[in-house]
Amino acid sequence: MNPFSYTRPVDEAEALRALAEPGAVALAGGTTLVDLMRLEVMRPSRVVDLGGLPLDKIDVSSGSITIGALASNTAVADHPEIKARFPVLAEAIDAGASGQIRNMASIGGNLMMRTRCSYFRDTASPCNKRTPGSGCSAQDGYARMHAVVGGSKDCIAAHPSDMCVALLALDAIVHVKSARGERALPIGELHTLPGNQPNIETTLQAGELITGIELRDAPFAKRSRYVKARDRASFAFALASAAVALDIAGGTIRDARVALGGVGTKPWREHAVEAALHDKPASKATFAAAAKVALADADPRADNAFKIELARRVIARALVLAGGVS
Ligand code: SF4
Repeated sequence: MNPFSYTRPVDEAEALRALAEPGAVALAGGTTLVDLMRLEVMRPSRVVDLGGLPLDKIDVSSGSITIGALASNTAVADHPEIKARFPVLAEAIDAGASGQIRNMASIGGNLMMRTRCSYFRDTASPCNKRTPGSGCSAQDGYARMHAVVGGSKDCIAAHPSDMCVALLALDAIVHVKSARGERALPIGELHTLPGNQPNIETTLQAGELITGIELRDAPFAKRSRYVKARDRASFAFALASAAVALDIAGGTIRDARVALGGVGTKPWREHAVEAALHDKPASKATFAAAAKVALADADPRADNAFKIELARRVIARALVLAGGVS
């Protein structure tokens, strides 16, 4: 492992100063960063341990819930108000990793998870995300786990998070702080497409700290579900997953949210499926027909073309569960 300096700020002001230093990276639960530092995929010169900051609270109010960035994945998934008001989030978190990792991993860290592309994690392989300009080994390599939408000639790595898919379906707001002030951005504006700079994965700026995630009550939030298809029953990343949320009144779908995981280079919102659900009867036939319009712009490789049909079936299943139809 490369030498690095370590600091553990005692308050936000000190943390913001430390994060603004060149080469600084934030350490929260460590489940991604420490792993990648051991592999020498990430070689930060300065590690800023956020563990001393009071950012692990879950604040519940009548119209919203705000989750501190250092709340553990387990604390969020087990929270009774989150289970009742935003069930898709609890289900998505529970579908990720293992119990031990969920105990350690933070919500802020989950937002910043890095890809599981095997070439990215292997320092002997060219990878534009790890070493800009070195090439993308996945383009002509083994791409079964890779993205079928949102890719570029420079990177087709799939985004790995389950939680972010649920947050996208819930229109979550990410709160960010820096020495320049505070800002709030919709979760859909946090992650970026790889384009010709796959090493840049979010719109977070140097020196910015994620302080929390806000979930606002919405008519569709309570009727929300997460379905994930993977190679084994636990501790596996998604081949395809769907987070869906439905507002149904009098048997008619008033509003819908559909987001996908495992198939995109970032958490993927399916506006076409949402439009196909709007004002339709909440029935199995509607859900099956709407799911079929997903991923119309997919650009798969031979290894991962199966993900398109898999994702459509996962969407249909999630809609049936959320809609409560049989
Ligand atoms: Fe690297 Fe992205 Fe290519 Fe994987 S897909 S090797 S992460 S550039």
